[in-house]
Amino acid sequence: MAIVYNFNPGPSILPKVVLSEIKKNFFNWNNSQSSILEISHRSQKFIEYTFQVEQDLRSILNIPKNYHVLFCHGGARGQFSAIPLNLKRKFTQPDYIHSGYWSLCAFQEAKKYCVPTYVSVRKVLQDKTIFIEPVKKWNISTNYTYLHYCPNETIEGIEIFEEPIFDNKIIVGDFSSTILSRKINVEKYGIIYACSQKNIGPAGITVVIVRDDLLMQPNIQSPSILNYQLLMKSNSMFNTPSVFSWYVAGLVFKWIKNLGGLSVIEKNNKKKAKLLYQYLSSTDFYKNYVISSHQSRMNVTFHLTKNELTNLFVDTAEKYKLLGLKGHSLVGGIRASIYNAMPIKGIYCLINFMKYFEEKFR
Ligand code: PMP
Repeated sequence: MAIVYNFNPGPSILPKVVLSEIKKNFFNWNNSQSSILEISHRSQKFIEYTFQVEQDLRSILNIPKNYHVLFCHGGARGQFSAIPLNLKRKFTQPDYIHSGYWSLCAFQEAKKYCVPTYVSVRKVLQDKTIFIEPVKKWNISTNYTYLHYCPNETIEGIEIFEEPIFDNKIIVGDFSSTILSRKINVEKYGIIYACSQKNIGPAGITVVIVRDDLLMQPNIQSPSILNYQLLMKSNSMFNTPSVFSWYVAGLVFKWIKNLGGLSVIEKNNKKKAKLLYQYLSSTDFYKNYVISSHQSRMNVTFHLTKNELTNLFVDTAEKYKLLGLKGHSLVGGIRASIYNAMPIKGIYCLINFMKYFEEKFR
């Protein structure tokens, strides 16, 4: 089979060695004589496996002891509800930073449970460039409360690399599309959460890293399945977890460790994104509209100046085995999601294709 490069935003590309490992052990996982799809989540082997998965994630992200790691249901959107529900006993007026679509969705969901303050940090300049305010200029409230933000807006391709720190704020970050792509300092956050279908594994589990003082008792009306305390006490097995997704996440964490951890991953990601952005800035046939300081390393978005060629670009790219390049319907254009598992060869192939397309249709 010809090599295919998958640029989908999520579910997305997985490391080839992980896919091979799944295939190799599919019918007999860990000498259990059962497929991983048939294993009981209560079996000793699987429980031991999940402890190892947590240890690997802890070592990759350097997670301090006073943080719990939960493997939840409900995707990142589930956390849009879980966060206010778990924290509202103490924080009824959190700050919600708006930098793009997903951070706005989080704000809208939070409004159902508390009275969040809306803080926009995004401006669209006259030439359509999207500009994000530096953290020190964020016009936040003076309350002692939590502050929610999204360090990588997957749809628009906007990344906030600066880690926000404020004396009177507990930082909560939706890391869905940037987790494990670069080093972060977990201690600067109260809660870090991420859906799995980008840099973690297949869709299913949602990783929540929460500082122990934030495990408050939510209101009795809150759904038990979103209750962090219950999840922590049951080792994330309050109900049946997404066994397969959890299993594959463990293989991806091992892959990251074997590569040399986040320093190596981050270096590769910088290199891949730089190649693509450098090429984009060398031509007027394609245009990226994000200010260079906030161009996402994971989701590279651009438009064709001849907008009417967009669909043809996507269809032709597929013929050349470059899949999933259509931009999100809200913003149009093209989006190349270049998560950890995208090899540098995939970037070269994409750039070559873009050059070819430009030569043909300029
Ligand atoms: N936040 C971000 C940053 C995302 O990219 C996504 C999914 N693309 C979500 C939230 C929603 O995730 P889920 O579909 O797992 O609820």
